[in-house]
Amino acid sequence: MAIFPVKRLRRLRYNPLIRDMVRETELSKNDFIYPLFVVHGEKIKKPIKSMPGVYQMSVDTLVNECKDVASLGIPAVILFGIPEHKDEVGSEAYNPNGIIQKAVRAIKSEVKNLIIITDVCMCEYTSHGHCGVLNEEEILNDQTIELLARESLTHAQAGADIIAPSDMMDGRVAVIRKILDENGFEKIPILSYAAKYASGYYGPFREAAESTPAFGDRRSHQMDIGNVNEALREVETDIEEGADIVMVKPAGPYLDVIRKVKDTFKMPTAAYQVSGEYAMIKAAGQNGWIDEERVMIESLTAIKRAGADMFLTYFAKDAARWLDKNRK
Ligand SMILES: [Zn+2]
Repeated sequence: MAIFPVKRLRRLRYNPLIRDMVRETELSKNDFIYPLFVVHGEKIKKPIKSMPGVYQMSVDTLVNECKDVASLGIPAVILFGIPEHKDEVGSEAYNPNGIIQKAVRAIKSEVKNLIIITDVCMCEYTSHGHCGVLNEEEILNDQTIELLARESLTHAQAGADIIAPSDMMDGRVAVIRKILDENGFEKIPILSYAAKYASGYYGPFREAAESTPAFGDRRSHQMDIGNVNEALREVETDIEEGADIVMVKPAGPYLDVIRKVKDTFKMPTAAYQVSGEYAMIKAAGQNGWIDEERVMIESLTAIKRAGADMFLTYFAKDAARWLDKNRK
């Protein structure tokens, strides 16, 4: 084996063109999924304080935003709904005229070339802010998944292209696959939030989606931050139940999990660069403490290098513009 001075790894770094030639991981717009928050009303574009550049939008504003997203070459958005009215059982989640269902129909009728993914959970829709129906303070798994199935069906009926359950209840992928198939939606893929951790990085999202739990936390269904074998069991279970794409969430602090999931199952693998990851980069950038653009690209490249085929990121538009400027 060659050693110095024959072996010089810097030879491939002196020239920027050579660096481009040997780069192992390169971002592409095809990797990006842009998360959007939709509210009732008209002409609304309400900034989310802890996530600069991210807004709650009414359906009319959202449709224009989606046209923008598509024209930038981003292939997909994922929608989160904020209902006008919340109750114990999250009825608005599976109302055929709920906010997500309306938004999907509006986007579908006006925007071409854009995949619409819908997030499926109950926490934005329940008065207590938990991800399912409760008995006292316990989330009832089997009753909740029936509601998630109904919610998924209304999304598919409205025209959603991909259904993305984020609740972490046991058995949800199976019941969603079943109800979709029984109703002629066998071609609609399921992107499951398969390994979703009970993370402190979700803080700003709770403001965006108005889904802070009224008491307690999500540790009875989301995963413990220390576990990786359990993540593999979660992912395996979702694949067995019919998931087409599996997700790890958050992304940046869980790169090892992404890599393990990718290597173990060789499935299309998504990762969610969550609100807290975004907020930290934004805040440090705005303070001049880091070069925001550079860290944005570095953080996304790291997620891809770890094995993610696609990622949900609030930087999608900025990163797409960066690619237009900096890559052929
Ligand atoms: Zn939830």
